Amino acid sequence: MSVKENSLLIVDDESANLKVLTSILDKDYVIYTAKNGIDAIAKAKELKPDIILLDIIMPEMDGFQTLSELKRTDELNKTPVIFITGLCSDEDEEKGLSLDAADYITKPFSPIVVKLRVRNQMQIVTQLRTIEHLSLVDQLTNLPNRRSLDERLKMEWKQAIREQTHISMLMMDLDKFKNINDDCGHLQGDIVLQKTAEIFRNNLKRPGDFVARWGGEEFVAILPNTSQEGAIEIAEKIRIEVENTLIPSIDNSRIKITISVGVNSIIPTQNCSVNAFISNADKALYAAKDAGRNKVVCNN
Ligand code: GH3
Ligand code: MG
Ligand code: MG
Repeated sequence: MSVKENSLLIVDDESANLKVLTSILDKDYVIYTAKNGIDAIAKAKELKPDIILLDIIMPEMDGFQTLSELKRTDELNKTPVIFITGLCSDEDEEKGLSLDAADYITKPFSPIVVKLRVRNQMQIVTQLRTIEHLSLVDQLTNLPNRRSLDERLKMEWKQAIREQTHISMLMMDLDKFKNINDDCGHLQGDIVLQKTAEIFRNNLKRPGDFVARWGGEEFVAILPNTSQEGAIEIAEKIRIEVENTLIPSIDNSRIKITISVGVNSIIPTQNCSVNAFISNADKALYAAKDAGRNKVVCNN
């Protein structure tokens, strides 16, 4: 049997309905169930189903109210909801769809139609995830891209202001990388980028650490809750590991590369600018290049 990758939360106050829907869908999906709106919202928060199948007529909180509450909840408002209901009038269907339900199925339902409509919504979920992944991940190195880093930095910056903690940045650039492209070819250059990205990823593993490909042969790491001393220590460790790594080359020889790193650390306040924080890391990087490359330089 194939591994079930996607999940559904089925919400209905009648056990018999839950049973029938489960039997229709449990070959293809992991099924969770809830018997009322409150329970549905709690389970959706906890289990993060891909899609919610929602009955409308339920005691206390009906399906319309449950959907409105889901749409007001940050982490749930993108989860598609399919109504599956005994309410068959056009007005009810209009109301359901205008509340942003993804689809509306009336009872009695055809099991095949339920399967196909769920499958259609699941295809949309998968496509949106692919688009999101492509928009946030660099395809060559599989590291987060610059857009992703900008979002993360905004969030960590605010948190550091709120909690008055250090935030550090490493700006890392491959030294004389153009020579590798020129001497060994672009494909070899790509392998070097992949290998160094792997070293960055492996050395930046603390919860909260985040490393991205900033562009070209430049990478940026954000280290929340990390002081200047800590950041320099990690930067040195990475610099040395890159220096000591022999990178496999296309012609079976081995290639060496070094990096220069600019470090910047701050406990930010409301008056600090995140752009200045980045540009000071960049200045430190240029100072490292000026100092002869293969160096870690800190902004002071
Ligand atoms: P420096 O030590 O001053 O940083 O010198 P450098 O040669 O590393 O810097 P420069 O900015 O002169 O050249 C960067 C090179 O990186 C030029 C560009 O073609 C190459 N590059 C950028 N992105 C990629 C990529 O995705 N793949 C490959 N193979 N090369 C890339
Ligand atoms: Mg470079
Ligand atoms: Mg460069």
